[in-house]
Amino acid sequence: MDFSELKLARPLLKAVGEQGYEKPSPIQEKAIPPVLEGRDLLGCAQTGTGKTAAFALPILQRLAAGHPNHKGVRALILTPTRELALQIDECFENYGRYVNVSHAVIFGGVGQAPQVAALGRGVEVLTACPGRLNDLIGQGFVDLAHLEVFVLDEADRMLDMGFVHDVKRVIKHLPAQRQNLLFSATMPKEIEQLAGSILKRPVSVKVDPPASTVDKIRQSLYFVEKGDKKRLLAFLLADPGVKNALVFSRTKHGANAIAAFLIKQGVGAAAIHGNKSQSARVAALESFKAGRIKALVATDIAARGIDISELTHVFQLDLPEVPETYVHRIGRTGRAGAEGTAVSFCSAEEREYLQGIEKLIKKKIPVVKDHPYAPGAPRPAQEEEQER
Ligand code: AMP
Repeated sequence: MDFSELKLARPLLKAVGEQGYEKPSPIQEKAIPPVLEGRDLLGCAQTGTGKTAAFALPILQRLAAGHPNHKGVRALILTPTRELALQIDECFENYGRYVNVSHAVIFGGVGQAPQVAALGRGVEVLTACPGRLNDLIGQGFVDLAHLEVFVLDEADRMLDMGFVHDVKRVIKHLPAQRQNLLFSATMPKEIEQLAGSILKRPVSVKVDPPASTVDKIRQSLYFVEKGDKKRLLAFLLADPGVKNALVFSRTKHGANAIAAFLIKQGVGAAAIHGNKSQSARVAALESFKAGRIKALVATDIAARGIDISELTHVFQLDLPEVPETYVHRIGRTGRAGAEGTAVSFCSAEEREYLQGIEKLIKKKIPVVKDHPYAPGAPRPAQEEEQER
């Protein structure tokens, strides 16, 4: 199928073409027609499937069709993390380049004055994290009385992060008559219940995380003692074949320690996690996207939703206890058809997690035995020096 078959207006097709998208992704094919018709939608899809365009394009088309005489918000997208909020707003900027629809993003952790100023000018598409949105609603800065479309993005994550009450508080301010779209990577019972309370006769669409994407990723496993993981990482990052790498750390403290170690070894790196200020996170992400630093060290929550389309490598310093997390992490590379490499470290204590992962992905991860930090191998002389 072609984008032009989706009944999208020419200015949107032009913008999509400029993004380099050739064909709609499966979620876009399935979701765009009913959303254009004004139907409610339940979308089971994870980040990386193109779900943002699946809702942003039809919303832009509907809003561009007429501009009412009020300054209230016309479409609200609620999303759990600041990074996702920024990315979604950027999508509205990119896809909406040739239509006249105003947009803005609000989230906590930064001063509210610029956000309030933007709201005062009138915002048609507002992307928001629930906490800050409720603050600003409470202060009377957000008018949702005329809302036309409500999107709840990453609903399962909202639940995990404890935002469900915030979400319900926001919904109380919405007019009864509106279009609702709910997206979630997984559909546990709580999400089904939430969907049941929000959506009216929804169209359900489901796309699986494309297995082929995961198959395209070159995976490898290094057995290494816990205390040698950082050194092995620095050694592997020195390979010029590694253009940029997202490094997963289980903890925020670990992420800081890994980034500091890499910097000491002369590898450009930054850590990104919930304890960092918003401006530090944005700065780290921008340095990474611009290629000024090679490694971005992130916790799972911080990494979720970060959209870096040309990521060559993913490193997992610890194997996750939950096997699906392994798949989510490696799926950060090899996106949109590109090739990717996923390298995982496994210490003696993590062997049991390996079994669960290999059962889930239905294959054995190839093991690289020949490396300087293989358990039992003689340690490189230079490293011994640094140890003392
Ligand atoms: P999302 O799932 O919305 O986070 O999108 C994941 C990535 O896919 C983003 O980098 C988008 O720019 C990209 N993308 C979205 N739709 C398409 C498409 N039809 N063709 C190619 N890439 C796309």
